[in-house]
Amino acid sequence: MQPVAEPFDVVVVGKGNAALCAALAARDQGASVAMLEAASEEESGGNSRFAGGVMRFAYQSVDDLKRVTDLSDAEVAESDFGTNTTDEFYDDLFRLSSFRTDPVLSEMLVTQSLDVMAWLRSKGAKFVPNFGRQSALVNGKRKFFGRLPIEASGGGPGLVQALDKAASAAGIKVFYATRAKRLIQDGDRVIGVHASVGGKPVEFMAKAVVLACGGFEANPEMRARYLGPGWELAKVRGTRFNQGDGIKMALEIGAAPYGNWSGCHATGWDLNAPEFGDVNVGDQFQKHSYIFGLLINANGRRFVDEGADFHSFTYAKYGGEVLKQPGQFAWQVFDSKVTKLLRSEYRIRMMTKVSANTLEELAGKLEGVDPKAFLDTVRAFNAAVRTDVPFEHTIKDGRGTVGIDPPKSNWAQALDTPPFEAYATTCGITFTFGGLRIDPSNGQVLDVTLARIPGLFCAGEMVGGLYYFNYPSGTGLVSGALFGRLAGTGAGHASVMERAS
Ligand SMILES: Cc1cc2nc3c(=O)[nH]c(=O)nc-3n(C[C@H](O)[C@H](O)[C@H](O)COP(=O)(O)OP(=O)(O)OC[C@H]3O[C@@H](n4cnc5c(N)ncnc54)[C@H](O)[C@@H]3O)c2cc1C
Repeated sequence: MQPVAEPFDVVVVGKGNAALCAALAARDQGASVAMLEAASEEESGGNSRFAGGVMRFAYQSVDDLKRVTDLSDAEVAESDFGTNTTDEFYDDLFRLSSFRTDPVLSEMLVTQSLDVMAWLRSKGAKFVPNFGRQSALVNGKRKFFGRLPIEASGGGPGLVQALDKAASAAGIKVFYATRAKRLIQDGDRVIGVHASVGGKPVEFMAKAVVLACGGFEANPEMRARYLGPGWELAKVRGTRFNQGDGIKMALEIGAAPYGNWSGCHATGWDLNAPEFGDVNVGDQFQKHSYIFGLLINANGRRFVDEGADFHSFTYAKYGGEVLKQPGQFAWQVFDSKVTKLLRSEYRIRMMTKVSANTLEELAGKLEGVDPKAFLDTVRAFNAAVRTDVPFEHTIKDGRGTVGIDPPKSNWAQALDTPPFEAYATTCGITFTFGGLRIDPSNGQVLDVTLARIPGLFCAGEMVGGLYYFNYPSGTGLVSGALFGRLAGTGAGHASVMERAS
């Protein structure tokens, strides 16, 4: 075993958003930092590089938004940015997690989210108003909805690129194609990482190690084991490198598992998308406008309330509902009244789409679907739509159905205006919720007796306890930055103190 000549104060495993934030924060403490990235430089950046880049953080006013982005006077005058007050953010996290989210971790996320956005900006990240996906013109004003008006410029790839630049300027060393495999300990203390570099074993010695190498979403064996039967059949929306390595390494030395181990974030995703994400397509295989249409399974039946809420609050759990359907697919069906409202991902070249001028013709084109049952479902749905409430897509309009199960609670309109369009989706997994338990004061990993493991920290998707059952969109990058900064500061501080002693 050849140790790398130069030991580092802090070794960060991973090179996504959380890892980059940890590395930068550790460097700010004066630590020398190395990052180990399993992927080649070309494929580096983890799920962060596949992300759309919407950022959910608490803000009360335009002044708060101005801490994060440049807004011209005209933009302010012409826009209604709404709010995401701390109370609203708490409500969303609590409601979506059925009140199981860890109270300390969620409080940190809610109350420090604006500050960490400003910190990301200070590191060179650029944020812009999310005109394309989260706003619409209403009475001459640009109205933002879903409580997330800001996105990273250039999306997830733009954010990673900006942090990458900062890391390189800060003298952080990156080792690509370097897969961490095992933690090295001296007694209980973690003192380094065994890694494989181009098939050769190498030891990276450090005073502290930060694991920020994602969940087990790309590992079908672990998905079936922890999420349940059938989950090995999901497609992976992002990187193929998140195999659960960090979680396994930490559990091997007695780290405490924490959070919703049988839960994950999974969405509707093009039926014929590749096995793993494609960085050139990014998040565009997703299909998030189902709120304006119907979701139909192989039996020709609806199976969820498509209009229960804005997609931001249902999309992360509806992928799992699609996975439960026969054949693990669902068609999203729309008529021409709403096609103008469909998001940009409905206009890419690589997608599974059919169109027809009559419902009967469409029924024959929905591959794998019982055509007669589909037509019966549409007839029953059309008859159940309330016509006394106007359709309004920028609010939860309450235009629902009466007397059918499942109901559609908002944005219900009869499917009656040709041409009709339908998009075939399956389940695409984004990331897993189960992770490790950390000390919220410094990001240090706790063992199963809840004692701190000396020298070991973790961040990002690997931190368990925040999400249960569901997830509000735009939270992953902000929480990754927040807990990345925390773990990096903790690891950097610990290593510098040790160096001094
Ligand atoms: C398609 C898609 C769209 C998304 N859109 C959004 C969005 O708009 N807003 C939002 O907030 N979130 C979004 N997310 C979620 C967000 O991307 C994640 O929550 C976030 O990127 C997680 O960051 P991370 O640093 O923890 O993990 P990652 O970014 O996945 O980084 C993990 C890193 O660890 C590396 N690695 C893994 N194993 C090893 C090993 N053994 N040794 C060394 N390195 C290893 C990987 O190569 C990678 O570099 C999206 C995700 C996807 C997939």
